[in-house]
Amino acid sequence: MVVGGGTAGCVLAARLSQDSNVRVLLLEAGAEQGPADTLNDVAMWDSPVDWAYRSTPQRGLDEVVVAIPRGKVLGGCSTINSLAHLRGHRSSYDTWEEAGATGWNNDTLLPFLKGSETAVGMDPRWRGTDGPMVLGLGPPAEAGSFYHATYRAALDSGYRRSPDGNGEHIEGIARTEFNIVNGARQSATEAYLRPALGRPNLTVRTGVTARRLVLTRGRCTGVEYTTGDDTHTARARRDVVVTAGAIGSPQLLMLSGIGPAQHLRDLGIDVEHDLPGVGQNLHDHPFAHVSFSTRKPLDDGGAPDPPHIVARSSPTAAPDLQFVFVHFPMPTRSPSDRFERWGSSQWAPRQVHGYSVTFSLLRPRSRGSVRLLSRDPASAPLIDPGYYADPRDLDLMVTALRHARRLGLAGALAPWRLAELAPVEVTDERSLREYARLATTPFGHFVGTCAIGTGPRAVVDPHLRVQGVDGLRVADASVMPSIVAANTHATVVAIAERAASMLT
Ligand SMILES: Cc1cc2nc3c(=O)[nH]c(=O)nc-3n(C[C@H](O)[C@H](O)[C@H](O)COP(=O)(O)OP(=O)(O)OC[C@H]3O[C@@H](n4cnc5c(N)ncnc54)[C@H](O)[C@@H]3O)c2cc1C
Repeated sequence: MVVGGGTAGCVLAARLSQDSNVRVLLLEAGAEQGPADTLNDVAMWDSPVDWAYRSTPQRGLDEVVVAIPRGKVLGGCSTINSLAHLRGHRSSYDTWEEAGATGWNNDTLLPFLKGSETAVGMDPRWRGTDGPMVLGLGPPAEAGSFYHATYRAALDSGYRRSPDGNGEHIEGIARTEFNIVNGARQSATEAYLRPALGRPNLTVRTGVTARRLVLTRGRCTGVEYTTGDDTHTARARRDVVVTAGAIGSPQLLMLSGIGPAQHLRDLGIDVEHDLPGVGQNLHDHPFAHVSFSTRKPLDDGGAPDPPHIVARSSPTAAPDLQFVFVHFPMPTRSPSDRFERWGSSQWAPRQVHGYSVTFSLLRPRSRGSVRLLSRDPASAPLIDPGYYADPRDLDLMVTALRHARRLGLAGALAPWRLAELAPVEVTDERSLREYARLATTPFGHFVGTCAIGTGPRAVVDPHLRVQGVDGLRVADASVMPSIVAANTHATVVAIAERAASMLT
């Protein structure tokens, strides 16, 4: 039984049902499909296919409440995300093993990263050749176009080229791969689940919300779920794998009495197993931008080939910064906005034309949490990403801001640039820090709330089994002990691929 039909759930359901001796039931709270315009990610945020969560007021962001989009639809976040396909630097996987996730490192994950993809024209030592996700680069940006100039801007700013941003050396300037095939979104549903839907041993149920795991004498034997006003129980003959994502998985565990005992007792939930790490260690890449106005819109023919840059904040650091060029000015919160919508309304077409350079911190130290507001499964959890809880993260974001500004002001972009839009004429350290906090939004890469490990804060063991409960595993973004130095989707797919191999 696979609970949560998002990125990881689709991968698991497809892989497990390859064995005709196994019966697989996939339960998903959301609808079977998203809207017809599959590429317009922003339009899907705050829509019926988004859980549309809100954070707790963020102390590091002037008490602002940020929007937390999470896919509520088959494919989960892979149906509403921004489609960039990126792997982390090897050191960000090796860190997992160093922190106690025995057997989880770059070398052990590489076969699953490769097995998930078909990367056309890339070095097969590092890239997959026959996996379900078909990746490729768009046609190179035309000479004289904005995106063509961004490569020059990056080179002139001192970064070197990487031949493949998902290959042996991900550091530097690389063309960005997307989960787009023939102009359409390639969600985990499309890449993995749809080809498996005809199998008689696979049942997929949508519009079904798990409200509690059924535990019998220390073993998970099924799931209680609701469809509309009705409550039912599905019984598992073998394993239950929770793949409800970095917010949904700890929420379901805690609703089932698995989590920090005192928190559960405070809410009147019977404690089945005291597991202090459940819902702790929530983190994301903080994400911000600088932007510049131009005389006219930069649409680049509708097929941009944007570079992204992976860099180090200092020569001794592991790669910890990411920059991306964007051909429009990103919206910036004004100091009086107490609530930041990361929804479509904020992204409405603007009067001002321009471009942005986004920057994010790939190895944040800040940690937050997911807790329950009440024992009612229908109430949204309390989500505290804890942005800048560790002040060193803000220091590094200011470093990143300086780099991003230098990129945006590069001579190669002078023919397009009119003026700086955000931040405007800010140079002193205090103002730069203020701007970095003002411009910070979630990146949507939440991880860590059911971390793999062996210590007291670990939730799952290296086989992804929930500590102290038989027959129950978690296998999604929540199991990453620390965030990878890249956008998270490709890594979640690889984790689910590995989980499937552990179960078969
Ligand atoms: C706006 C946004 C943009 C992003 N852009 C990128 C990008 O460009 N590149 C990239 O690499 N990553 C990106 N990401 C991150 C990436 O998409 C996620 O890390 C990844 O998809 C998470 O996969 P998951 O399986 O852990 O969770 P999800 O994909 O969120 O799946 C969880 C599923 O469980 C379901 N569920 C939850 N609770 C229950 C319940 N109680 N009962 C039944 N079902 C339940 C949910 O509806 C959902 O379908 C983005 C994320 C967001 C939100």
